Amino acid sequence: MKNINRRKFLSLSALAGAGAMVVPQMAFSAVKGNDETQEKSKTIPTRMLGNTGIEIPILSMGVMRADNPAVLRAAYNSGLTFFDTAHGYQKGKNEEMLGAFFKGKDRNSFFLATKGKANLKSDNFEAEYEELFNTSLRRLQMDYVDIFYTHALDNVESVSDPRMLAMLKKFKAEGKTRHIGFSTHANKPEQIDAAIKTGVYEVILISYNFKLDILPELDAAIQRGVDAGIGFVAMKTMVGGVEDAAGDKKVDGAACLRWVWQNPNITTAIPGFTSFDLLDNCLAAAYSPELQASDTQYLAGLQQNEMLYCQNCESCVKQCTKHLPIPAIMRAYMYNYGYNYPSLSKETLVELSLTGNECSGCDSCKVNCPSGFKISDKIAAITPIVNVCDDFLA
Ligand code: SF4
Ligand code: SF4
Repeated sequence: MKNINRRKFLSLSALAGAGAMVVPQMAFSAVKGNDETQEKSKTIPTRMLGNTGIEIPILSMGVMRADNPAVLRAAYNSGLTFFDTAHGYQKGKNEEMLGAFFKGKDRNSFFLATKGKANLKSDNFEAEYEELFNTSLRRLQMDYVDIFYTHALDNVESVSDPRMLAMLKKFKAEGKTRHIGFSTHANKPEQIDAAIKTGVYEVILISYNFKLDILPELDAAIQRGVDAGIGFVAMKTMVGGVEDAAGDKKVDGAACLRWVWQNPNITTAIPGFTSFDLLDNCLAAAYSPELQASDTQYLAGLQQNEMLYCQNCESCVKQCTKHLPIPAIMRAYMYNYGYNYPSLSKETLVELSLTGNECSGCDSCKVNCPSGFKISDKIAAITPIVNVCDDFLA
């Protein structure tokens, strides 16, 4: 195969239109961060992101936990074009790393999404949110991002909040972001329907994996979103990264990704690979994205495992005598025990104003979780992290 430079194949991809087009891609991450690229015959399919006009490979990079620019460079050199970060990741260092890496690179050679958490309870919300986004742009050393998501909305009300919508529209009108969206761990079909109703959101970043109990309802809502021109990006595709609650064995990420890509309404997945090996594993899946019988068998075998992924069904919140924010606590548990990322775990819990002693005075826990989590044990195993000094957390 002829050597095709990066800009050339991106422009070819842009010309070729929608759907399951396949573009030639660069090397496996064997290039390991060198700007030298080598010729390969591997290809990754691309899909259109709703009505944004953005066409990207089905594999993208969730940069959240990555702190090695060489892995980022290897992903870019391997032909990935879409990178996902957030204002809060690594206390801003994640955006700074991306800014330093992309500085001087052709702005048309990549797409960048960032996210910002909105404090709608603040009287000063508008000014604070604007400052948050301006800070992100400064760190990224960019005039604009391709997508700005309002981060981690967990209810319909915040999706439809008029102050939120006004700020997102303002950011877009000012040219600070080309497109606007929201991210959600809650995965409620009604959030998608609310987003459609606003007519404002162009992209939704959702948790999407084979373990979701509400898959039929969610898929139907995603279809309605796609019909309305919204693009969908998938996160949490690897269900916490480990096969069981003990966290002893890594999940087969390639099988998880191939399962996600079966749904043509998911434009791209953003696994958070942090090493060359994990990148190679994801690339291998993207080069051969068809779900195999062995994948189906493997994933079926995991269906009954407890694993670490909380469905966000919220049935526990009603059962808990203190109505604790258990889904978010379980996410923090996953960050620590699945992702080995204790600082993010602490950050998630601190945002909830937890003390580390949440279940005290509650003699017996009657909370029944469909995912099989022993809720009070898990709370006891993770919430004390809020009292651990940051210097001891990775
Ligand atoms: S009941 Fe279990 S799966 Fe549902 S939100 Fe609570 S912890 Fe998560
Ligand atoms: S033990 Fe904890 S999780 Fe269980 S009901 Fe009591 S406060 Fe809620």
